[in-house]
Amino acid sequence: MKNGYDVAVCGGGFAGISAALAAARMGKKVILFEKEYLLGGLGTAGLVTIYLPLCDGYGHQVSFGIAEELLKLSIHYGAEARYPANWLDGIGSKTENEPRYMTQYNAQLFAILAEQLLLREGVEILYGSYVIGVKLEGDKIRSLTVVNKSGTLDYSVRSVVDATGDCDIAHFANAPTDTFKQGNVLAAWYYFADKEGYRLRQLGASDTPEEEKKDKETKPLVARRFSGLCGKELSEQVCLSHEIQLNDWLKKRATNPETVIATLPTVPQIRMTRKIVGEYVLAYTEEHTYFEDSIGMVSNWKKRGPVWEVPFRTLYNKAIKNLLVAGRCTSVNETLWDVMRVIPCCAVTGEAAGTAAAMSDDVSTLSVKELQAVLRKNGVILHEKEVL
Ligand SMILES: Cc1cc2nc3c(=O)[nH]c(=O)nc-3n(C[C@H](O)[C@H](O)[C@H](O)COP(=O)(O)OP(=O)(O)OC[C@H]3O[C@@H](n4cnc5c(N)ncnc54)[C@H](O)[C@@H]3O)c2cc1C
Repeated sequence: MKNGYDVAVCGGGFAGISAALAAARMGKKVILFEKEYLLGGLGTAGLVTIYLPLCDGYGHQVSFGIAEELLKLSIHYGAEARYPANWLDGIGSKTENEPRYMTQYNAQLFAILAEQLLLREGVEILYGSYVIGVKLEGDKIRSLTVVNKSGTLDYSVRSVVDATGDCDIAHFANAPTDTFKQGNVLAAWYYFADKEGYRLRQLGASDTPEEEKKDKETKPLVARRFSGLCGKELSEQVCLSHEIQLNDWLKKRATNPETVIATLPTVPQIRMTRKIVGEYVLAYTEEHTYFEDSIGMVSNWKKRGPVWEVPFRTLYNKAIKNLLVAGRCTSVNETLWDVMRVIPCCAVTGEAAGTAAAMSDDVSTLSVKELQAVLRKNGVILHEKEVL
């Protein structure tokens, strides 16, 4: 048994990076377990490099704190596209015709910069380390079981943030969880390069059956849908996407012989799998609703206008008192899931979960007011009335 960590963050995607950063800045001893050898999750290894908006689309920024810090970090050496110049110079878009506060970044650079940032802040990163189970003591996780090149080891922990994207830790701990019943369409995004540069090809872009019907361009690549929670099915998903990527490139090469496939994703491109059933389930229809326990705000990447305050209660279930979830597995209803799963929202929930995990090992006694005070001190704005 390895001892001595205040906060263990499981998963190093945008949610895990944000959680680890927030917890380390509270002066805690933090370890981050990541099964790959790269930070960023879907946002780097998955080649999803579009940092969706921090604003409502009508000139109001709503997501702040680490969500904004990571956006700026992602374009430290320049953006790939959609550069939010009008925001970064402090002016902000005033009309709905101006671009929203979003960007496109280079995955590899972001992964390196995020790693350097976490190391500077004192986070211990353990790559190639798959969390495969938990040991419980009453209603708390006492240790995490981790497999890596050294073998299988138990890490005793005080608080845990589940940022696995798939709610693995909550599932291992028998906390209430729910799955994405309709399943995910196949995605086969990849980067190609030719004389005109290095570019993202977004194949299989749609998320919902309604959108597929609306837009012929985004019709499903295959009829099948994927749960993202079965080892065999995930391998089949990856093989199918490879086949589609190859055929797509062959078509390009027929007219443009200089085209090459530049980068393939190294994690399956699956959007929604499993989420916690928290103390509160936030609904799509609760846009513009005031929540006293808000830990930050998110906007709708699909359309201008809607803003949600995110209740702290969506990040935990009291069944396991020292576990918080962050990222694409927080407690939202089926319709809101497609909004809450995106990068800025993952950073917002990651920062709150990491801060809370650093403050207490018991969500039921944690003072929400104190949590909110720390978030505010770190630049997070909690309520819509404060930005309008
Ligand atoms: C095809 C596609 C297109 C998308 N388009 C966009 C877009 O344009 N813009 C946008 O903002 N979002 C987009 N998204 C959504 C967004 O990329 C993800 O939802 C978001 O990045 C999820 O972040 P996360 O940190 O919650 O999870 P992930 O990015 O999934 O990170 C989880 C991390 O945990 C690790 N992990 C998992 N299980 C374990 C374990 N048991 N032990 C140790 N490590 C583990 C994984 O390796 C991974 O690094 C898209 C997603 C897909 C699939």
